[in-house]
Amino acid sequence: MKPAPVTIENRSCETCTLCCRLPDIDYLDKPAEEWCMHCVAGLGCSIYEERPKLCRDFLCHWMLDETLGDEWKPSISHMMVYGQGRQITVLADPDRPDLWRHEPYISQLQNWAADAAATGGYVIVFWRDEVVKIER
Ligand code: SF4
Ligand code: SF4
Repeated sequence: MKPAPVTIENRSCETCTLCCRLPDIDYLDKPAEEWCMHCVAGLGCSIYEERPKLCRDFLCHWMLDETLGDEWKPSISHMMVYGQGRQITVLADPDRPDLWRHEPYISQLQNWAADAAATGGYVIVFWRDEVVKIER
């Protein structure tokens, strides 16, 4: 059995539900940037005990990587960050689509892009129909 990912001490999802809204989830027939039918705003998942395995297994980088400071807490950054192979994916809340262009975010995104490039990786920001590859 695959071990559960280790989360950073003192970090929890609390009332954040960004990953129930921003990504498209084929299994749940959920388009990007629309609420999952099971999500209750401000409360979370209404089927938490029976939620699909893909939901159980998912944690964003802020929950897993202590190099992401508190400014990356999704409720503050209005972004969720996760890895997809060599791609570091950043989904920006369409209600706050330009935050990533400003500090402290843009410098960190550029640093991630530089670090990722050393092993063939890259950083992409998505919102609405927009896609931007972060340049080092
Ligand atoms: S985006 Fe991250 S912090 Fe927010 S609910 Fe999902 S895993 Fe938790
Ligand atoms: S099933 Fe629950 S945990 Fe999964 S996306 Fe929907 S509301 Fe979120």
